[in-house]
Amino acid sequence: MIPASFEYTTADSVEQAIDLLKRHGEDAKLLAGGHSLIPMMKLRLARPGVLIDLRNVTGLRGIAKTARGLEIGALTTHAEIAKSGEVASFAPALSDAAGAIGDVQVRNMGTIGGSSAHADAAADYPAALLALDARFEIASAGGRRTVPAGEFFVDMFTTTLAPDEVLTTVIIPQAAAASAYVKLPHPASHYPVVGAAAALGVEGGAIASARIALTGVAGKAFRAGGVEPRLAGVGLSDRRRIESLCTGAAQGVDARADVYAGAEYRLAMADVMAARAVAAAAARAR
Ligand SMILES: Cc1cc2nc3c(=O)[nH]c(=O)nc-3n(C[C@H](O)[C@H](O)[C@H](O)COP(=O)(O)OP(=O)(O)OC[C@H]3O[C@@H](n4cnc5c(N)ncnc54)[C@H](O)[C@@H]3O)c2cc1C
Repeated sequence: MIPASFEYTTADSVEQAIDLLKRHGEDAKLLAGGHSLIPMMKLRLARPGVLIDLRNVTGLRGIAKTARGLEIGALTTHAEIAKSGEVASFAPALSDAAGAIGDVQVRNMGTIGGSSAHADAAADYPAALLALDARFEIASAGGRRTVPAGEFFVDMFTTTLAPDEVLTTVIIPQAAAASAYVKLPHPASHYPVVGAAAALGVEGGAIASARIALTGVAGKAFRAGGVEPRLAGVGLSDRRRIESLCTGAAQGVDARADVYAGAEYRLAMADVMAARAVAAAAARAR
């Protein structure tokens, strides 16, 4: 459990981080909270020759409402997101997800940028960010680009980020009428066995539109596209109907199996968690 030797350096700005990434090529890795990268290095699943610590890049921290929506710097910790009043009112599903990650120590160190870039199949944020239609701002020597969550997460441990790019900001463009994230946590790590987020549009006491996303079930988080249109017109208090309409939330998905949960169990829990997320969001809308 000791990492292979590596060089350590710090960046003081996004531009300097990009320069260092270019100089060291694919041998370099950015370091944010270190709560995924360092365990992987200890297990020798990752062996970067150079770590570029982002901790001094103050411009990557913080939460602000701007013309683009709610902007969250990549270095903002899970704890900061969980306790933010702005996140709680604009994107409550994201507060739920941040507050349910790991334990206090993990939440105080881990960052939204690090978690998103790492793209663990069982990470909490991807479901919330897909349901909330988040955008990812990415910087490189060639400038900045913005990618929707649906394109950012490519596969297990794979995103659209190139080795010489820095994720700078997560943007939630619009507040849904109501949103929520719930999960069935693994009892030891608290990673979701299955997690679900729902973001609802509401009209006259009923669901007008729904975006539902699941994590933990497959190699990457995904939208429950078959279920979403069925929920239009369902009353906010109609729990039974919500439960029955969320059946098949992960239909057609190649579910994962591991020592803790089989594929069939994950598919069954996908229905349960999707219904709970919709019901929780509907309760907030009432
Ligand atoms: C005991 C334990 C329990 C956990 N439980 C959960 C849980 O319940 N739910 C959950 O979702 N997660 C959980 N995690 C993971 C935790 O949330 C990590 O903090 C997170 O996955 C990684 O964020 P980080 O800031 O620590 O990133 P790091 O570990 O520093 O980096 C992760 C990866 O992202 C890259 N990276 C970091 N920042 C950037 C950036 N700005 N731009 C481009 N690339 C970047 C790094 O190069 C690295 O490849 C747990 C971790 C531990 C150790």
